[in-house]
Amino acid sequence: MNIVLLGAPGSGKGTVAELLVSKKNFFHLSTGNALREMSKKHTDFANELNEILKSGKLVSDDIVNQIVKETINELDLKKYHGLILDGYPRTQSQALYLKNLINIDKVLFIKVPDEVIEKRIINRRTCAKCGRIYNLVVDGLKPKNPELCDDDDGILMQRKDDEIHVIKDRLNAYYKEINPLIDFYIKENLLVELDGTIPLDEWKELILNSVK
Ligand code: AMP
Repeated sequence: MNIVLLGAPGSGKGTVAELLVSKKNFFHLSTGNALREMSKKHTDFANELNEILKSGKLVSDDIVNQIVKETINELDLKKYHGLILDGYPRTQSQALYLKNLINIDKVLFIKVPDEVIEKRIINRRTCAKCGRIYNLVVDGLKPKNPELCDDDDGILMQRKDDEIHVIKDRLNAYYKEINPLIDFYIKENLLVELDGTIPLDEWKELILNSVK
């Protein structure tokens, strides 16, 4: 079963992905994570990428399409319950590209109001060692120590593009792109809308039920 996760930055896509990976053996493909890894290399392309990521603007369709294609081609999908696409597609042209690449069974659209999103993003932290996602204001996602990972004592970092001055640009980019994508997946009869503000335990149950 292949799933696309749609929702604003900070709507909880990464948390949903973590849950489906650990409980249902999905493979998590996050174009944002892949791009952040690529931007750490010491090449001109990595430097260019770094600037785009810091600005909150979108990377070109060609680059992200290529990342998704290569990852899927290298993957032995039979080993997994399916694929979760997180942060991709973000444009209609990416959605069309994906349609020709792989069968999508469901699109989960996570709805969260703007004011909640901003508060969540500012308080989001990621473990520098293992990548576990925390949130300093969301019950069930708070670390025991706000500076260290519960699992491996890794330092909890804030993403550069989670800083307040970039968030507005990222949300603007999101709102520009999301409506055509929603229309696209309604026409494809794949869209399922979920309320991303319900308490975490109920939320987890809802997600696990929606992929049965
Ligand atoms: P995310 O981790 O999904 O919030 O993505 C972080 C950043 O990576 C975005 O602000 C974009 O600059 C870039 N990015 C991730 N996925 C895509 C995509 N599908 N298309 C274009 N840019 C992307």
